[in-house]
Amino acid sequence: MHTPRHARSLDELEEAEMKAVASVLFARRRAAQAEGFAYVQVVLNEGRIAGSTLPHSHSQLFWLREPPPAVLEELPRLEQGRCGVCEVLQDESLEIALRGDVTAFSSPAGRAPYELVIAPRQHAAEPAEPDLVDAALLLRDAIRRLHDVEGPVPLNAWLHTGGHWHLELVPRLTVFAGLELGAGIYVNSLPPEEAARRLRA
Ligand SMILES: [Zn+2]
Ligand SMILES: [Zn+2]
Repeated sequence: MHTPRHARSLDELEEAEMKAVASVLFARRRAAQAEGFAYVQVVLNEGRIAGSTLPHSHSQLFWLREPPPAVLEELPRLEQGRCGVCEVLQDESLEIALRGDVTAFSSPAGRAPYELVIAPRQHAAEPAEPDLVDAALLLRDAIRRLHDVEGPVPLNAWLHTGGHWHLELVPRLTVFAGLELGAGIYVNSLPPEEAARRLRA
């Protein structure tokens, strides 16, 4: 639970509440690592069709013995000395908001309209606590912006670490059907620059 008050979305959290949530996540990740878990998958689900099981804003941590496939998929390019996140950070047309050293930007290859990524400007595999706090505040801010543009849409968000750490936010504005699930091809009619422009406004 993110707050004892009834809050349906992360966007209702006060700044101090959001900071406290980020600090708890940081501490729980540390505890899992100290117990020998190789990876902690942090997820946020909002709305029933996005898999949320409670109407009260909450996040979930899955302690895993090894990094999950989605994280491993992001690593080969890094091993070749190229980082997709560092590359995208060069493109200012995708930037939505900044906080400290952390930035929120429109995903250049989003599976759904308004998909976005929140990442530190400096390449790092694991977040330092202050950067994780800034990222959490940017996530809250991004959800507010999304709600302003599209209303209370269901969404999923998660933390990826081990490469260039980042949060990903996927608004569930489209239905993933045969082409998406069967071919891994996602049809997204909203160009990322236009999504960034709308969310910045
Ligand atoms: Zn990087
Ligand atoms: Zn990722």
